[in-house]
Amino acid sequence: MMYEADSSSVSPGAGRSQSPDRAKQVTHPVVALPGDGVGPEVMRAAMSVLDEAGASIDWRICDAGANVFRDGIASGVPDKTLDAIENAGVVLKGPLETPVGFGEKSANVTLRKIFELYANVRPVRALPGIATPFSGRNIDFVVVRENVEDLYAGIEHMQTPDVAQCLKLISRKGSEKIARFAFALAQAEGRHKVECATKANIMKLTEGLFKSTFESVAADFPEFEAGHLVVDNCAHKMVVAPESFDVVVTTNMNGDILSDLAAGLVGGLGLAPSANLGRQVAMFEAVHGSAPDIAGQGLANPTALLLSAVMMMRHIGQQEVADVVENALYCTLEDGTHLTADIARDAESVGTAAFTGAVIDNFGRSSRHLENRTYAPLQIPDAVHGPLGEVTREMAGVDVFIEWKGNADALGQSLETAVFASGFRLSMISNRGTKVYPGRTGHTDTVNHWRCRFAWTDRDRSCTDADIRDLLTRIGDIHRWMHVEKLQHFDGTAGFTLAQGENQ
Ligand code: NAP
Repeated sequence: MMYEADSSSVSPGAGRSQSPDRAKQVTHPVVALPGDGVGPEVMRAAMSVLDEAGASIDWRICDAGANVFRDGIASGVPDKTLDAIENAGVVLKGPLETPVGFGEKSANVTLRKIFELYANVRPVRALPGIATPFSGRNIDFVVVRENVEDLYAGIEHMQTPDVAQCLKLISRKGSEKIARFAFALAQAEGRHKVECATKANIMKLTEGLFKSTFESVAADFPEFEAGHLVVDNCAHKMVVAPESFDVVVTTNMNGDILSDLAAGLVGGLGLAPSANLGRQVAMFEAVHGSAPDIAGQGLANPTALLLSAVMMMRHIGQQEVADVVENALYCTLEDGTHLTADIARDAESVGTAAFTGAVIDNFGRSSRHLENRTYAPLQIPDAVHGPLGEVTREMAGVDVFIEWKGNADALGQSLETAVFASGFRLSMISNRGTKVYPGRTGHTDTVNHWRCRFAWTDRDRSCTDADIRDLLTRIGDIHRWMHVEKLQHFDGTAGFTLAQGENQ
């Protein structure tokens, strides 16, 4: 289906004659999700520009977002849209509002998860004509964010009425896939350095697994400079030396924050494109949201969606169209005479349609200040190492999380009595990660959520699930427990961390 672009609002430019020969290109199906707020306006602009540039696209317009939530579909994405995406494999997406009071989840997150769009790619490049405090610093790097794991797995529980928990899941496979993706992207874009940013110094098992997996993948790519940065230092360095970065790969939450910071270096979210890539589906979208304050007024800047569309054209192999559009956009920004209000500063501004018309008018021109990068096709890699083979495992004990309103000493004494002659010994209690029993409690401001660590003491036999069930029965008779974690050694290495102060 061809999208019926509002041609009356866009002045067709002389650039039509610069369009690549459509006959040479394979028509690619693309699902367009105009989305909410300014979405339909910027989508119309992007589709007009691509069509005028000679893109061979079979547009399939589908619904997602606020109206879908209002129709009672809790995911925000109807099955018809999911089927269309499954068939087309490529999506150009406008911003989707997450309405407060409708639905449980964000439609954006739904799409990323359903289609396993594990790689979020956010290019960060200084644009011509966009003055920032960092102008002239030659900023040109890419943030590669793992897009489906980490705290964004969305596994949350209120463990007590007063304490919430969110599980941070990092898998060896997910980490390997995104690390390999980062190197594949570096290869495709002719970059030379890949850095991994984590908080492995604090979260030694989760962020630590991401870091160590990156390091083992990096060994397969000796032609690249590879290194690790602690994520807070990475944020600092991004501001003081942004030109030093090339590719940064990181976990989901770190990447969410770092990529917005990076967008701020080159002009802000309104100019920032992104791609969400998986093995079967690729989704391209502006980083900004639905901007409800300017929606429907023809004022929105389509640059971010246009740059996302350029990424999409490269992805589907229509490189020539991508180059024509990217160059024309750079020229429009550089000319500075047809800018939308958000980037015009003191100059007179135009609306979405006039900006879009100016881009089309500039087809065939090249920027005086910024050259297109060269891109080779990107092969989306998979994990090759796979899960670890057979590992030995030994159960060293168990952590039982208990809700308790009293103090640490009273809890400790009651538990020691409860587990007497059970094979377990209460080795310590921590509150919010700090050991509070036995011994000094320091200044810990305790809450009603206690991690009680029981060590297995019987050297004549191993700890079993039956022993844990017996332990929970003993504890459950006198306390309210809400969560249990086994303490395991894999191949002799502890698969759990110590509490602050536990080894003192
Ligand atoms: P936002 O929609 O990005 O808007 C923040 C402000 O940025 C706007 O008020 C506007 O500022 C400016 N802006 C954004 N896009 C612009 C454009 N294309 N042209 C000109 N100015 C633009 O952020 P938000 O207000 O926090 O979020 C609104 C809704 O969007 C929320 O429901 C949120 O969940 C959703 N959202 C969706 C996505 C997505 O689909 N990927 C991403 C982020 C947010 P002025 O005040 O200067 O006009």
